[in-house]
Amino acid sequence: MEQLMRNFFQFMAKNKSMTKLAKRYGLKFGAKRFVAGETLADAVETIRELNKEGFAVTIDHLGEFVETEKEANEMTEHSIEAIRAIKENNLDSQLSLKLTSMGMDISDDLVMRNMRRILDVAKECDVFVTIDMEDSGRCEKTLQIFETLRKEYDNLGTVIQAYLYRTLDDLDRLNAYHPNLRLVKGAYKEPETVAFPNKKDVDENYKKMIEKHLLNGNYTAIATHDDEIINFAKAFVKEHNIPNDQFEFQMLYGIKVERQKEILKEGYKMRLYVPYGTDWYGYFMRRLAERPANVAFVLKGVFGKGS
Ligand SMILES: Cc1cc2nc3c(=O)[nH]c(=O)nc-3n(C[C@H](O)[C@H](O)[C@H](O)COP(=O)(O)OP(=O)(O)OC[C@H]3O[C@@H](n4cnc5c(N)ncnc54)[C@H](O)[C@@H]3O)c2cc1C
Repeated sequence: MEQLMRNFFQFMAKNKSMTKLAKRYGLKFGAKRFVAGETLADAVETIRELNKEGFAVTIDHLGEFVETEKEANEMTEHSIEAIRAIKENNLDSQLSLKLTSMGMDISDDLVMRNMRRILDVAKECDVFVTIDMEDSGRCEKTLQIFETLRKEYDNLGTVIQAYLYRTLDDLDRLNAYHPNLRLVKGAYKEPETVAFPNKKDVDENYKKMIEKHLLNGNYTAIATHDDEIINFAKAFVKEHNIPNDQFEFQMLYGIKVERQKEILKEGYKMRLYVPYGTDWYGYFMRRLAERPANVAFVLKGVFGKGS
């Protein structure tokens, strides 16, 4: 049943009509629990509060199904605006973005032009940028773009997904750049030909990624809500005398909030991924797919009791 629900929400995340409809009707169905708001001002306010509590942040302007050059340019402007807001408001925040939003599916020229525009402003404002990883069909291209841009910009990282079979090889390949990488399990529906179907194998691969990237001396963002993996990472850094400034934990805004606070209290760096924007629907569906129990919040939203 749980697998059916996962498949359903992963399928719904790709639904263009629902995405358009959701944009028209604003943050609904409990989505506010996971999304800071629809405007940059909402996000700035949220980040200010989180910084006060001691959390670092990475901000993400949400966007799905960018199909025209005009849309990709608009998304680029949103990212630039967010970087400037980080600087102007003196926020402890990085920026996360998706290459499809910057025009990756439209043309190579467009995505490279938009990324360089963003990275120039980010460099000027001293803001670090992480390229999120999307579905497996876009992984190789994303890594190639990352490699090209990383030669030009230091303030750039990307994401590696534990569910893909290729992942440990990718870590070896990227090691040449000594990159700051975010390690995640992976959020998209992938076929067994490219990804481990079982959680146990994904978790084992995740642990191998942590070991490899840390022992290679690279900065590692351990982005998970999984206590077993968090405890593994804590024990591993202790055993290998890895300093606290070589890694951080990351979680998504609104998920396991008490745990986020505990990890912070224990003295670790904790960064929260804070999304905002009107295009919240796909992001929200992926969060429901990860934990179908979240549907309780959706039902509350539908029946008017939730946010
Ligand atoms: C900062 C950050 C950035 C990310 N960037 C990317 C990216 O670029 N590309 C990508 O594919 N994926 C990304 N992800 C998502 C990631 O791949 C997973 O889908 C997501 O983190 C859930 O997996 P988990 O590691 O928390 O482990 P799981 O085994 O899925 O979850 C462990 C426990 O955490 C809790 N939990 C997990 N998810 C939820 C939820 N949605 N609601 C409530 N409780 C939950 C539950 O208690 C669950 O038992 C990112 C995640 C984080 C934290």
